[in-house]
Amino acid sequence: MTVENKVVVVTGASSGIGASTVKLLVKGGAKVVFGARRQEKLEEVASGLDPDQIAFQETDVTDYQQVKSLVQLAVDRFGKVDALFNNAGIMPMAAVSEDNRDEWQQMLNINVMGVLNGISAVLPIMHRQGYGHILATDSLAGYKVYPNLAVYCGTKFAVRAILEGVRQEEIKNKIRTTLIAPGMVETELYKSISDPKTAKNLVDTWHEENHALKAEDIADLVVYAIGLPNYVSINEVKIRPSVEL
Ligand code: NDP
Repeated sequence: MTVENKVVVVTGASSGIGASTVKLLVKGGAKVVFGARRQEKLEEVASGLDPDQIAFQETDVTDYQQVKSLVQLAVDRFGKVDALFNNAGIMPMAAVSEDNRDEWQQMLNINVMGVLNGISAVLPIMHRQGYGHILATDSLAGYKVYPNLAVYCGTKFAVRAILEGVRQEEIKNKIRTTLIAPGMVETELYKSISDPKTAKNLVDTWHEENHALKAEDIADLVVYAIGLPNYVSINEVKIRPSVEL
């Protein structure tokens, strides 16, 4: 089990799960190409990492050309793409009756189209290579619906369906898929909640003892899945704090 010399592209890498995964992959000897919208946060992630092992660029996953360019950066710099980790996501919370149409659209664009843009950008490269691994950060909300998260759950159900479809279609091309479905993880995700009271409640829950995982817990799993030999495929994992229902 090793990620040494694997080339991995990570989206949503400026904080939380994505940033932790970049760091752990680099520690394991992988070459990592990563992106997100906030350039200054990407630079923070890169600081202290071996520059020979990384490349990064500002990337909005809703813009297909930008995602293509990130994936191409991996090929130009390191010659291949072993794995793509589609991790970018937002989670605004509100009842459907609040009619936050802009937030719905943003969630669909980032959480669903962002993943499809990644898949679309990387598949031709993986087909040419004759191997590849596509991962995505889903959520327990991709299995179960919660109030005030109806649209978010919808996007995560969609990601699960899409990745399972890709798994079935791409077996013949030796492309593996892995869906990681976390419960509560303490990250910056609450910042995408527009209602400050709801955001504070969530953060307070995280700070109850053992109530939230750390981003590193998810990164461990991602690195493990990528490091497995090509004939082994971890397709879906639920990971939650032991105290979470
Ligand atoms: P963070 O908010 O810390 O990370 C989200 C990342 O996504 C950031 O790097 C952000 O960077 C990036 N992002 C958001 N929008 C875009 C965009 N349009 N283009 C590119 N990057 C974007 O939260 P998490 O680490 O928790 O979130 C990572 C994933 O984990 C998400 O898909 C989330 O749904 C999922 N998840 C999180 C859980 C949790 O409890 N935290 C539980 C279950 C799933 P930037 O703003 O710089 O673009």
